[in-house]
Amino acid sequence: MEDKDYPNAHKKILASIQYPQIGEAGKTGTWRTMRPLIHEDKCIVVKTGTHNCHLCWLYCPEGVVSRTIPPTIDYDYCKGCGICANECPHDAIERMEEGGAKACPA
Ligand code: SF4
Ligand code: SF4
Repeated sequence: MEDKDYPNAHKKILASIQYPQIGEAGKTGTWRTMRPLIHEDKCIVVKTGTHNCHLCWLYCPEGVVSRTIPPTIDYDYCKGCGICANECPHDAIERMEEGGAKACPA
């Protein structure tokens, strides 16, 4: 049933759930301590020239991996969570310590 005060509100909520937007949490790249690097020589979409993987794009919670050949990462918003590296079936994404960044002491 439609809320007369907020018409189409349910559609907007569903849209935000189904279509993650880049940088919903701000420029999350500023507090990243680990940087994911894509090794194109190992990436299967680069090697085959087809869109036959892109699991990094699919699983990135920030929506900052492009569905392109090669896939690229927007480091302004990548928060360094490492999910893309964990999901890559070809070990094509390596996590490197961010230059000059230090992990918070436990
Ligand atoms: S998940 Fe790995 S192999 Fe697949 S497109 Fe991404 S980087 Fe390439
Ligand atoms: S580390 Fe990978 S999965 Fe995590 S935000 Fe960055 S690109 Fe996305």
